[in-house]
Amino acid sequence: MSGVPTAHIWLPYTQMQNAAEPLRASHTAGSRIILDDGRELIDAVASWWTACHGYNHPHIVMAMEKQLHAMPHVMFGGLVHEPAEKLAARLAVMLPGPLNRVFFADSGSVAVEVAMKMAVQFGLNQGDTGRTRFLSFRDGYHGDTLAAMSVTDPDEGMHSLFRGYLPEQVIAPIPRDEASCAAFRQLLDEHRHEIAAVIVEPLVQCAGGMKMHDGATLKVIADAAKDAGVLLICDEIAVNFGRAGTLFAHTQAGIAPDIICLGKALTGGAINLAATVATADVFDAFLSDQAEAALMHGPTYMGSPLACAAANASLDLFDSEPRLQQVATIEAQLKRDLAPLTSLPGVVDIRIKGAIGAIEVADLHNLDWLKAQFVAAGIWLRPFGNVIYTMPPFTITPDELSAITGAISDILPRWADRTPTAG
Ligand SMILES: *Cc1c(COP(=O)(O)O)cnc(C)c1O
Repeated sequence: MSGVPTAHIWLPYTQMQNAAEPLRASHTAGSRIILDDGRELIDAVASWWTACHGYNHPHIVMAMEKQLHAMPHVMFGGLVHEPAEKLAARLAVMLPGPLNRVFFADSGSVAVEVAMKMAVQFGLNQGDTGRTRFLSFRDGYHGDTLAAMSVTDPDEGMHSLFRGYLPEQVIAPIPRDEASCAAFRQLLDEHRHEIAAVIVEPLVQCAGGMKMHDGATLKVIADAAKDAGVLLICDEIAVNFGRAGTLFAHTQAGIAPDIICLGKALTGGAINLAATVATADVFDAFLSDQAEAALMHGPTYMGSPLACAAANASLDLFDSEPRLQQVATIEAQLKRDLAPLTSLPGVVDIRIKGAIGAIEVADLHNLDWLKAQFVAAGIWLRPFGNVIYTMPPFTITPDELSAITGAISDILPRWADRTPTAG
């Protein structure tokens, strides 16, 4: 029996033959998703980590409405407009150091593709033709397009299934102690002449299982890249705009990436937009008398005025409302509420950073049962891999967050008691 009633929709990451029936969303408000049948779910994952101000924030809705009537979209080739200029200028001011040249894209994966293309061409434009590979990390995730897949964790990125279609990269574990730091430096040194850039998710490898590392570790990676003379790309798409406790995660390590990728919460979750931001040095390498030294990329909907208006309104809210304080409050509550779960059978580790709380389990069995239990408890939560996690809107109330952690505390022991079965 096909469980999916949607006859023409192909769902993401879903075996369509036996997929559980998807819920039907009708509208959203605050931290909640309201279903067609009237049920309300507290969104514990902020719509794939985007809705940092909650849903339908009136300031973002108003800015988009205004922009919608003036100019929903116009091509970005040969034309620019105030919403994009303003957004680029604001991002340049918010980002530390010389990260001040913004290339807009329509999704995070494309922003990563652009960053990788920039890094390769950065070498080519200086006559260095040998930099054809990237160094990336186990448990990393950088998107679903082919080049982004190639720098994603080999298992998650299905490198063996897609062998031959994906460029083969150099993949290292995140170095977590003296020995692995030395091994990392050596690996990078061995490949230094063929590596265009090191690409890393700063502090939290989100889609790869909410794996966390500290600023010192990130600094080791950044220093090694600098010493080896290769560029550093920080993919901040999941953690940008406060998720890991600071506006941008990499600043916690005091490092200076050459390129960073922004996305997900860039518009506060209202509409798709992403950006690749380069330093002045990277940008300057594309200035030339030769036309082919230009960056040859241009997504059709890049810099959409509607999306830029949403992003500008989202940035306003980081100024006018206490977002980072809210993140700190969420972090404190997650630490309090989730700590007692460490002793549960099957729980391997509990990791909390900013507004991210993750419970790693030995084996995520009975996944469909687990998801259904959360929905029955009024919580929208999407466990994956080996983690049950929450990344709520920053505007979630303490009571709503208690409802999430309470449901986890209530359901997890019952789940642990069940005989493991797939699904
Ligand atoms: C989600 C994500 C991407 C891909 O973004 P899309 O908008 O889904 O293409 C890339 N990198 C990281 C770290 C992400 O979390």
